[in-house]
Amino acid sequence: MNKIYLDNAATTPLSSEVLNEMMPYLTGDFGNPNSLHSFGRTAKSAIELARERIARAIGCEPSEVYFTSGATESNNWALNGIAKANRHKGNHIITSKIEHPSILETCKKLEREGFRVTYLDVDEMGLVRIDQLLHYIGADTILISIMSANNEVGTIQNIQAIANIAKEKNVIFHTDATQAVGAVSFSVREMGIDAMSISGHKLNGPKGVGALYVHDGVVITPFMNGGEQESGLRAGTSNVPGIVGLGKAVEIATRDIMANSKKVRELRDYFIKKVVELIPMTQLNGHPVQRLPNNINLSFGMVEGESLMYLLDLNGIAVSTGSACSSGSVENSHVLSAMGIAPDLAQGAVRFSLGRNTTKQDIEYVIEKLVECVEKLRKISAMSKSQVGKEDE
Ligand SMILES: *Cc1c(COP(=O)(O)O)cnc(C)c1O
Repeated sequence: MNKIYLDNAATTPLSSEVLNEMMPYLTGDFGNPNSLHSFGRTAKSAIELARERIARAIGCEPSEVYFTSGATESNNWALNGIAKANRHKGNHIITSKIEHPSILETCKKLEREGFRVTYLDVDEMGLVRIDQLLHYIGADTILISIMSANNEVGTIQNIQAIANIAKEKNVIFHTDATQAVGAVSFSVREMGIDAMSISGHKLNGPKGVGALYVHDGVVITPFMNGGEQESGLRAGTSNVPGIVGLGKAVEIATRDIMANSKKVRELRDYFIKKVVELIPMTQLNGHPVQRLPNNINLSFGMVEGESLMYLLDLNGIAVSTGSACSSGSVENSHVLSAMGIAPDLAQGAVRFSLGRNTTKQDIEYVIEKLVECVEKLRKISAMSKSQVGKEDE
């Protein structure tokens, strides 16, 4: 059976170019970068090269890049660390309702610790309400954290506008750019971004490694106490192969940004056009243009996203739904509800996220199977409805 992976927003395959770069550090060059002998020095210089590559890719100084275990850690650290180090200036944080759980749960924890958090609304396309940002920002606001691009619906925020407001009001601005690096060009210093989270496995790099950029002069408390790694802010022996892989993956993603985005965007637009033509009661969720080139989020009326996902899986196609099954009950996506998508349409939402290796052939196959699967589920749904009708008589 054809196996097609359209869940690249969840994770991506490791690119062979990245693996080749990592290989020596998984084998012969195993030294501890803190050791002073040649084994250590080899590992150390590999880490510093990765730091330079990331700095060059996002437009900052290498000393402003800290390695972490992924974007979840980067987000936890940025929020906790900046909030606590700046508490003397105020206790108010602004974020949005559509952030990743690693931001939202950290904000809830900070609320329990006495910080005040404002969760901004988004419009029906998933764009953060800038008017609300201006309204709620105050003298006690110390931190704004708004994601660059949403992982579920792909909407890309007006990051420059938000950064400008933060700068004007003298508030620190953090962005979770996990989905955006490789799709959006960043020059963090020029744009006035103070802190930014990155993850390896969302851009064809390894899992369990990420980075946090923190602008010189922004104070942040350490994430891990112990050794002197990462300027003493994130102690623990470095994940050398992971860091090497992350550096290469970020370099490739930003180097090939134009070519990759164009190819993927064309496939995306073809897919959406065809599916909307072929399947009645289909709705695109998220922004029609200001969206990640690889993201397609569609709601199919009278279809449950979960059932469609399983049926597609039986056909070898991997996608994901907008709802998360938590403790047995299906909860609607917090992103779709913040956008005001009706609960039944939110239940029918499915995310198709394309990858660098997705082909036109893959897309044609998925469209064909999708038409069949939706039809099948709608028939079943209509049948069970008429059954219910009969019981009522
Ligand atoms: C995947 C993702 C994360 C978490 O990244 P990990 O490296 O898996 O911890 C955070 N934010 C967004 C927007 C993501 O898509």
